[in-house]
Amino acid sequence: MANYTPMMQQYLKIKAQQKDAFLFFRLGDFYELFFEDATKAAQELEITLTSREGGEDGRIPMCGVPYHSAANYIKNLVEKGYKVAICEQVEDPKEAKGVVRREVVQLVTPGTVMDGVMLDEEENNYLASLTPFDDGTFVIAYNDLTTGENSVAMLTDGFDGVLSELFNRPVKEIVVPTDLSAEFQTSLQDRLGVTISKEDRTEITEDYQSLIQHLHQDKLKIGFGRLFYYIQETQKRSMEHLKEVQYIELNQFMKLDMYSKRNLELMETIRKQGKKGSLLWVLDHTVTSMGSRMLKKWIERPLLKKQLIEERYNQVEGFLEQFFERETLREALQSVYDLERLAGRVSYGNVNARDLIQLKQSIGKIPEIKSILRSFSQPELKKLGDQLHPLQEVYQLLDESIYDDPPITIKEGGLIKDGFNNQLDDYRDAARNGKQWIAELERKEREATNIKSLKVGYNRVFGYYIEVTKANLHHLPEGRYERKQTLTNAERYITPELKEKESLILEAQEKSVDLEYDMFLKVRDQVKAYIPSLQQLAEQICSIDVLQGFATVSEQNQYARPELVDNRDIYIEQGRHPVVEKVMKDDTFVPNDVNMQDESDILLITGPNMSGKSTYMRQLALTAVMGQIGCFVPCSYARLPIFDQIFTRIGAADDLVSGQSTFMVEMMEAKHALTKATDRSLILLDEIGRGTSTYDGMALAQAIVEYIHEHIGAKTLFSTHYHELTELENSLNHLTNVHVRAEEYEGKVVFLHQIQKGAADESYGIHVAKLAELPEPLIDRANAILKQLEGSSEMSESPSYSLEEDQQLTLFEPKEKTVQVEAEQMNTKDETKVIQQLKDLDLLELNPIEAMNHLYQLQKQLKKQ
Ligand code: ADP
Ligand code: MG
Repeated sequence: MANYTPMMQQYLKIKAQQKDAFLFFRLGDFYELFFEDATKAAQELEITLTSREGGEDGRIPMCGVPYHSAANYIKNLVEKGYKVAICEQVEDPKEAKGVVRREVVQLVTPGTVMDGVMLDEEENNYLASLTPFDDGTFVIAYNDLTTGENSVAMLTDGFDGVLSELFNRPVKEIVVPTDLSAEFQTSLQDRLGVTISKEDRTEITEDYQSLIQHLHQDKLKIGFGRLFYYIQETQKRSMEHLKEVQYIELNQFMKLDMYSKRNLELMETIRKQGKKGSLLWVLDHTVTSMGSRMLKKWIERPLLKKQLIEERYNQVEGFLEQFFERETLREALQSVYDLERLAGRVSYGNVNARDLIQLKQSIGKIPEIKSILRSFSQPELKKLGDQLHPLQEVYQLLDESIYDDPPITIKEGGLIKDGFNNQLDDYRDAARNGKQWIAELERKEREATNIKSLKVGYNRVFGYYIEVTKANLHHLPEGRYERKQTLTNAERYITPELKEKESLILEAQEKSVDLEYDMFLKVRDQVKAYIPSLQQLAEQICSIDVLQGFATVSEQNQYARPELVDNRDIYIEQGRHPVVEKVMKDDTFVPNDVNMQDESDILLITGPNMSGKSTYMRQLALTAVMGQIGCFVPCSYARLPIFDQIFTRIGAADDLVSGQSTFMVEMMEAKHALTKATDRSLILLDEIGRGTSTYDGMALAQAIVEYIHEHIGAKTLFSTHYHELTELENSLNHLTNVHVRAEEYEGKVVFLHQIQKGAADESYGIHVAKLAELPEPLIDRANAILKQLEGSSEMSESPSYSLEEDQQLTLFEPKEKTVQVEAEQMNTKDETKVIQQLKDLDLLELNPIEAMNHLYQLQKQLKKQ
């Protein structure tokens, strides 16, 4: 270090504290980066890498960005997940002795950006922290610095639960303790793509204790403490807009794990990872960006309390009943700016006069919104109107103080209205009078000298001057003015009087600009006092926006208000898939009923590929989610229970996109559903067991269905291409077969997408192959093999295996017969025999397929009784 120049020594000292950030080191009008920071940033930002003399050690790599356009470069880096430490000169270079003192004034990180250009209006920008405890629980804390929102949740489902909770949430950065296991860290990075930051300290300073006053568990306080400490470390300023920490009681909301959130495409599609094509895309008819953010929160956490859901239904219904009022309301809401983030910026201190005007205009809309809401006849909407606080004091303050069209800068005046402050008015008068005197001077001097082109001008260097063109100089009496400057075509003069007025004007102007800045800060501080009310107002407006959006989408798509039942019956008439029907043109979507009432818990869905099985299943799950966030649902009539959890599992072969479609993953996902589901849950198992050989997969599929039937009792949709499983209807009381109808027309398959009772009775594989124009002789051969199999197989009337799998079937056929017993002989005594046969089986000698065959035969014997 000794070899470096003093400034580089200063740099290195600061850099040592900011190892994981790009250090933007202020040098005059530039932020400079050095050493590795420079080489890396030059690459990431595509800027030129140069070098500078650093001392005896030779040249140091360097690159820089101009101070005034730094925001874009910072944004670029932060969006890529990097952190940027902004190091400013903290003393006036003119007064500095030696190297100017510099300090890091802010650390911009993905989770703590405040700057408008870096934020997505329709998305929260969360910073989260994760704290593991010895008892296996985790605490997650959230903060959105732009809105001041803080919350914590306790997770007891292990690390899987953590991933599920964080999945799909707009979390940009997670603060973890340094000793968090490497496995978890990689998981967070890979699965969620977030920036990881480390912080071990968790204390919360005295001034901010009120934030956690309602948290009763130390674990929650520690969890939030980690987040809070990190915020303080990075932001280095007071944050009065931080809201009291809300405890998210996870058991008050429907649980959706990571796989289900992804498979159901609630927020984004699996393929394109964009909003289009997701449930959010269909439902988002909000008109404000804060409403759009709120809608996401609602979709993330469907409700469980009937009363709360019904309240939302009532409000949606109220909005639906009065179209014109609703339209007027939408219009009024459109002129409300982002109150939530404006409030955040007021307290963060980066608000300008234009922001305050946006705030004023937004507040100015509240009385109108209030009265529109009161014009609805639905009592709960009236109530929403009554609850809105119009905050007239704030409106009045801003209206009296700030010009409607102020400049962006807050230090150059032109912000504060006349009449707001006497002193300011006096300064302005003085300046105005002075200017008037000068204008008068010009008139008088023209007259006196008879020079029409004589003028009084102003520039920064010489101040006010009198200018006479060279052509007119002979008119000017000698010694009338003092000469100040000679131009090519003119001479410029001053007079003592003019200079005297000038200093009066300038002084008044300078004083008034300074005073304006003070006044602006004062107004801002006065507004600060209203931040909690503004935040509350913002929240009310958000909900109103989301609810009117529900009404709008429900009307457009003819959704129906569900009837929530206390038992577990599901009954849907003419149900539709909210997204697929939107994507398909010309009303071609075929609606289907769902009937899972009384004892019907499991629907076993069969039907050819592409017939609509997956669509039908997801349709039910999405309907449940929509119903529990308070929106109407896509059908003509629905009776729905309130589900505590939804599980969605997709057979490995169908899950083409995940890139990790191993059978093991499929089984682990299934395990998750089977261990966590209750009889109030909804389970979708889509072609489970496909990732392994036919019998193996079929055995597992059957065992899973039976397990759910016997041990869980959850409402379950189970689609399968194992046609054999349809026989389970005979043995499982709560299982019903349905199939998707497809018809043969002129030797081809026509998909009708209609769900009907009973099992599918045809195999369409060969027809599909025909459609795909496989060679004619091949199709003929396949038909022949199929006929042969249909004749010989006892396992199924219409096998639907692929040809390769059929070979296996023939191979094992003889074994089936070895355990055949005459059905007529069966009685209770024979049941004992079956049990004996079971006992006799040497499991270690059997492969899974043989075991399956034995099981199948044994069960068949029992059923024949
Ligand atoms: P499966 O799971 O049986 O292979 P999918 O549910 O994936 O079939 O549906 C295949 C395609 O059929 C869908 O992409 C959709 O275009 C169409 N489809 C599905 N259900 C319907 C329906 N009810 N009405 C109209 N088209 C449908
Ligand atoms: Mg499918």
